[in-house]
Amino acid sequence: MIQFKPLADWGFPSFNRPLLIAGPCSAESEQQVLETSQKLKSIGAHALRAGIWKPRTRPGSFQGMGDVALSWIVEAGKKTQLPVMVEVASPKHVEVALKAGVDMIWIGARTTVNPFLVQELADSLLGVDIPVLVKNPINPDLELWQGAIERLWKTGITRIAAIHRGFSSYENSTYRNKPNWEIPIELRRRFPTIPLICDPSHICGNTFMIPYVSQFALDLQFDGLMIESHLEPKSALSDAAQQLTPDELFVLMQNLELRKPTADSPIELSRLEDLRDQIDEIDTEIVDLIANRMAIARQIGKYKYKNNVTILQPERWAEIVRSRTDKAVSQQLTRDFILKMYNIIHEESIFQQTTQMSQEKNANEQTLKQ
Ligand code: PEP
Ligand code: MN
Repeated sequence: MIQFKPLADWGFPSFNRPLLIAGPCSAESEQQVLETSQKLKSIGAHALRAGIWKPRTRPGSFQGMGDVALSWIVEAGKKTQLPVMVEVASPKHVEVALKAGVDMIWIGARTTVNPFLVQELADSLLGVDIPVLVKNPINPDLELWQGAIERLWKTGITRIAAIHRGFSSYENSTYRNKPNWEIPIELRRRFPTIPLICDPSHICGNTFMIPYVSQFALDLQFDGLMIESHLEPKSALSDAAQQLTPDELFVLMQNLELRKPTADSPIELSRLEDLRDQIDEIDTEIVDLIANRMAIARQIGKYKYKNNVTILQPERWAEIVRSRTDKAVSQQLTRDFILKMYNIIHEESIFQQTTQMSQEKNANEQTLKQ
């Protein structure tokens, strides 16, 4: 199993959890970068971020200031003693960024989706021990995210972190990029030591949900936050709707609760143990109940084969959905949750029934042959 280097050993001039990486979506002018950097340093940020090559969905929008902005960022970093980072999306970007002296780099969501490009980036980093932060791919595909991290690790990069910035979806959503928290949670299960940073700015796409998403991430034991901050968000050249002023960011950080992984007092600890025991028992019952339900589904499969009737009966399914969701809602469960759960159960049920039916059919054909 890969042992990632903890953030505390990355060499930040001062480190405390949560790590705060902040800065504008894009570097816009030398003055803006320096002033933002000074303000962010004074509110306790650990590193400065700024995009200089912007991956825009449509041509014609602001594409970033390009190479010229590299020296603005590096200078601002030197003056404020903040490590600085930019997004790289090609080996050429890596080359000029390293030459300019940036301290860290990140790989954007539109790059992580492309294993060819990630490999090229990894190759261009051979022999360079710079921290690399890997954003999740645009689409909710954990394997791609994991693969990108593994490619960098294989190159010899020792300081790697994952940035969770949410996932694109075609459905309407209150989020700009849906968090799908189960994906970073599973990444953490596969890589228990990977530093995890949440980027609530790109998840939310607005400023008012950022506190909620940031707190949620900390409660899931994320190690840090990457938050976009602009001196005058309204006039920002990119992502104007989601950037916080440094002062607003300060207030946000003050209000976040840093909860510990465990309680201190033995009594409180044992209370949690009790509750977890109850959950374990209920989970065992849930698995038993589902197994029983599927055994019945298989019997129905037999019945339907014998009587030659269809598997899916829409009226019956509609009735199940209606009665189960009503019951669930009356017991403090959300309609959306119970619908999702029943869809999965139903899918498995149909699978069990069809398997049973084809087994019956094969057995029947064997008997006929004899
Ligand atoms: C950004 O951080 O400004 C950015 C473009 O992010 P993402 O790759 O998450 O879209
Ligand atoms: Mn942005």
